Amino acid sequence: MEEPPTGAARAPEPKRVFIKTFGCQMNVYDSERMAEALASEGYIETEDVAEADLAILNTCHIREKAAEKVYSDLGRLRDAKRARASEGKQTVVTVAGCVAQAEGEEIIRRAPAVDLVLGPQSYHRLPELLAKVSRGDGAIVETTFPDEDKFGALPARKPAKAVTAFLTVQEGCDKFCTFCVVPYTRGMEISRPVAALVDEAERLVDRGVREITLLGQNVNGYHGEGSKGKATSLAGLIRALAKIEGLARIRYTTSHPRDMSDDLIALHRDEEKLMPFLHLPFQAGADRILAAMNRKHTAHDYLMLVERIRAARPDIALSTDIIVGFPSETDADFDRTIALVETVGFAHAFSFKYSPRPGTPASTMDGQVPEHVKRARLERLQGVIEAGYARFNGAVVGKTVQVLFEKDGRHAGQLVGRSPYLQLVHANAPPSLKGQIVDVDILNAQPNSLSGVIRGLQ
Ligand code: SAM
Ligand code: SF4
Repeated sequence: MEEPPTGAARAPEPKRVFIKTFGCQMNVYDSERMAEALASEGYIETEDVAEADLAILNTCHIREKAAEKVYSDLGRLRDAKRARASEGKQTVVTVAGCVAQAEGEEIIRRAPAVDLVLGPQSYHRLPELLAKVSRGDGAIVETTFPDEDKFGALPARKPAKAVTAFLTVQEGCDKFCTFCVVPYTRGMEISRPVAALVDEAERLVDRGVREITLLGQNVNGYHGEGSKGKATSLAGLIRALAKIEGLARIRYTTSHPRDMSDDLIALHRDEEKLMPFLHLPFQAGADRILAAMNRKHTAHDYLMLVERIRAARPDIALSTDIIVGFPSETDADFDRTIALVETVGFAHAFSFKYSPRPGTPASTMDGQVPEHVKRARLERLQGVIEAGYARFNGAVVGKTVQVLFEKDGRHAGQLVGRSPYLQLVHANAPPSLKGQIVDVDILNAQPNSLSGVIRGLQ
């Protein structure tokens, strides 16, 4: 290698940012956008806190456990900040995301090492706020819901090369389920315009992305501005995105049963780029509990909806979210949840113990269920859900599925990808197949993944 000439000016050391993401896919997307905004300011990402000039925790407030994890991480960041300070280095500690929004000043009180508290609607202001912190203006808390459009103000996307990507199309929620903090932390529902989303998707596809998952807390309630300023539904947005050459697969999450419109259901039949997988939370099987949750659908409504969806796309894989131990839930109510899981037959499900969240109506309702009862119900429910995984994955053994290979597998010579039904599939495959959709004959099913051989590669 050529030596630099003596006396030549050295390039300044790049600044390094450590980002840890908690919670949902929307936080993953937000972290990527923050990293991109910081890259324009000369930051590169690091996984080592000890070398980070800036450490960001992008946090989740949905359940108590998720929020408390942040404080234990802040203890570790405080120690790293001290160690770096003893070497004369500055570390700016930032708490972003929904804990930042919900707890604001309280974070600085509990964790004085924090320099910046930043709500999810203000990420575009990150460079400007960091400059203020560096000037020694003291700790800053920015948790307003600004008037300007965060997405419009963020720099255009320059994502890293990848096969799959998230794209936030809708944010916030006006549904006010009585257990949920989202309407308070993410604000009212907003939808991004179709043109901006098509532009962002095209940039992703130019970087090699073949599959995009559209994100929103109520993604099927999407109603962004389309051509001639007219509101466009999620089905309309998907139709526009499906025209992008090179984009092979489209998914969306999370949907509310109340917003599952006929045109979206029909699109599952008509649009081959739209994958046969639908995450449709039902939360509880007893109508009394659903009413107390303010879900505005009954168990029967949910079953009728599933019937309509399966009539349009019989092979669709369904996934859901379920809460056990909502205030006043009895054993008989919980049995209805189990019955609904068994009747529908889910390919996948997330299940949670009800966690009282400050400021939400359910947190002060009578009949809070004891922890040991919630634990026992969750255990029973998870047994039923796992039996469902085994049935769903077992049913594809001996069949051929189209797999989009995403990355290297655990073993040498292996790639891993996803079936149309979002199942993880491992197969021996050359690296050149990354980003390709390939027929794989499925030989084995485990509860959480499949393995097989590529057609024509035996
Ligand atoms: N918008 C989606 C919907 O309507 O179903 C869900 C968004 S939320 C981020 C994800 C899941 O977290 C919810 O579906 C619910 O099952 C769970 N969740 C929300 N608040 C909860 C709480 N207080 N305790 C336990 N689980 C909760
Ligand atoms: Fe929370 Fe979803 Fe209900 Fe909105 S619809 S309040 S995000 S659970």
